[in-house]
Amino acid sequence: MSAEPTRALDDLSRLCVHTITTKPWSLEQAADAYAAAGIPSITVWRDALEGIGAQAAGERLRRHGLSVVSLCRGGFFPHVEEAARRAALDDNRRAIDEAAALGAPLVVLVCGAHPGQSLSRSRAQIQQGIEALLPHAEQHGVRLAIEPLHPMYADTRSAINTLGQANDVALAIGSDLVGVAVDVYHLWWDPALEAEIARAGRAGKLFAFHVCDWKTPTVDLLLDRGLPGEGCIDVRGIRGWVERAGFRGFIEVEIFSTKYWEMDQHQLLTRVVEAYRAHV
Ligand code: ZN
Repeated sequence: MSAEPTRALDDLSRLCVHTITTKPWSLEQAADAYAAAGIPSITVWRDALEGIGAQAAGERLRRHGLSVVSLCRGGFFPHVEEAARRAALDDNRRAIDEAAALGAPLVVLVCGAHPGQSLSRSRAQIQQGIEALLPHAEQHGVRLAIEPLHPMYADTRSAINTLGQANDVALAIGSDLVGVAVDVYHLWWDPALEAEIARAGRAGKLFAFHVCDWKTPTVDLLLDRGLPGEGCIDVRGIRGWVERAGFRGFIEVEIFSTKYWEMDQHQLLTRVVEAYRAHV
């Protein structure tokens, strides 16, 4: 069986761009530019809603014919203090409210970690936190995707560091509303990745697929992501695994890069489209 996805070279029908990729733009500017570039869908980061609000943002995006794939992001459940864990749940409920008002069917979870406690304790708090959100998510018809983060972020950003761990938590929760997000930046190094993608697919848990690239050398562990094709990740190969596992959703370009935020954002968007065509 071939790992090569089948599609015409100029087909952008499954391309989604995250607002954080073009962070200097307002949501209105991003919506105008994405639609003009023939990009059919958008994932909205919560900072992009400031000043416009989720309801108006959703109307604006729909006027441009843009599908909203997800809202980024909720999560950050673990804390040593119980009051802080409760505050995190409140913030996650607000994220679900925002997603519903925006028309986003999915909230992506960066699950969090606290350096003052063990990773296993943080993981237990993550599972409890997601379970506590389920009634609210169900009420609003919003799904939740656990996004595992690269282990370099295990101190403060996520105690969920492999797709295997994310699958374990999603399956333990056992709700149709909870699945996983596969981001190549976080997971490309994992020898179990292909098998865990297949496992997520069999369980109906593959909710989202994020692409970018790992540059060599990476000069900043948060803000130096590359365009697909610029680094060492076999993005097209991983796309093949995801598609063989049954994923038919949008393919989301999510790049945090100080270098690219300093560029003219129209030129950056052109490069995103070129990189998607050539390397995804
Ligand atoms: Zn991601």
